[in-house]
Amino acid sequence: TEKMLEITNLKTYFHGDDGVVKAVDGVTITVNKGETVGVVGESGCGKSVTSLSVMRLLHDTPGEIVDGSITFEGKSLLDLSEKEMRMIRGNEIAMIFQEPMTSLNPVYKIGKQLEEVIKLHLHYDKKEARNHAVNMLKLVGLPRAEDVVNEYPHQLSGGMRQRVMIAMAMACNPKLLIADEPTTALDVTIQAQILDLMRKLRDESERSIMLITHDLGVVAEMCDRVVVMYAGEVVEEADVLSIFENPKHPYTKGLLGSVPKLGQDLEKLDSIPGNVPTPANMPKGCKFAPRCEFAMDVCWKKDPSLLATNGNHTCRCWLYQDQEKILEV
Ligand code: SF4
Ligand code: MG
Repeated sequence: TEKMLEITNLKTYFHGDDGVVKAVDGVTITVNKGETVGVVGESGCGKSVTSLSVMRLLHDTPGEIVDGSITFEGKSLLDLSEKEMRMIRGNEIAMIFQEPMTSLNPVYKIGKQLEEVIKLHLHYDKKEARNHAVNMLKLVGLPRAEDVVNEYPHQLSGGMRQRVMIAMAMACNPKLLIADEPTTALDVTIQAQILDLMRKLRDESERSIMLITHDLGVVAEMCDRVVVMYAGEVVEEADVLSIFENPKHPYTKGLLGSVPKLGQDLEKLDSIPGNVPTPANMPKGCKFAPRCEFAMDVCWKKDPSLLATNGNHTCRCWLYQDQEKILEV
């Protein structure tokens, strides 16, 4: 397998009034060529900060990458100049954001924004760029694509704007697509359409996708491998089948327990009690301990490491590790 993206021991910290927030604290994620990797977890677990770090789009945040490396096709992204990074963004790596309104420029028409990206990266002339823009809008299922190019973002519905964003992300046929909750705001029919489109991109041109989501249904449908994040750390990683059929970490089990199943009484849904810890009440040992029904003495004392339980299935939990050996140290 050819590696497309390698995030290694990434640490992205935020410097706030109350001290340092370790939003991403030693995260390692690999995305191979042609592979779709799902990154799941509740909000506040560091999923979006991880993707913004890869795109080097932290400048609007108080966040800073303090350690680790990010390589794309063997190139170290953290060593590129901002100019070099701009040529990769939108062209080789594209990102679909959660909030399309904040990533579309309100003062330019849709067509102009799409054409800018296309001209910059594909070197099309004006007419070719316009044709390509309209075609991309049709591809994402936008009705009246020829009219939409002459409209402003605020004239479109949220779902339409999201599809414009997706068209823009896919316009240059990126090698890696980072999609952060790409379909959350969309109704079910359009959601299915968009996922279909992403699958096509992956299967027809062997593209890679890092899919950030809290929707485990989407994960089951799209992903080859799953990375579960909690409080800035990876707590479990496995192929998609193992995650659904043999989840190991209590947090993963809790997430799966909160997925409504067909016919299940919604009142009786299992969910994980409590919240993701804030920096002020970050536990000393396992960060999940305050919410974990299996928490043992050792869990409160020492953070477990992310270790292989079998083959490529890794888990950060004392239930699967030799506690006595560690406590002796
Ligand atoms: Fe629960 Fe302990 Fe495992 Fe943490 S290490 S998830 S507290 S059992
Ligand atoms: Mg997020």
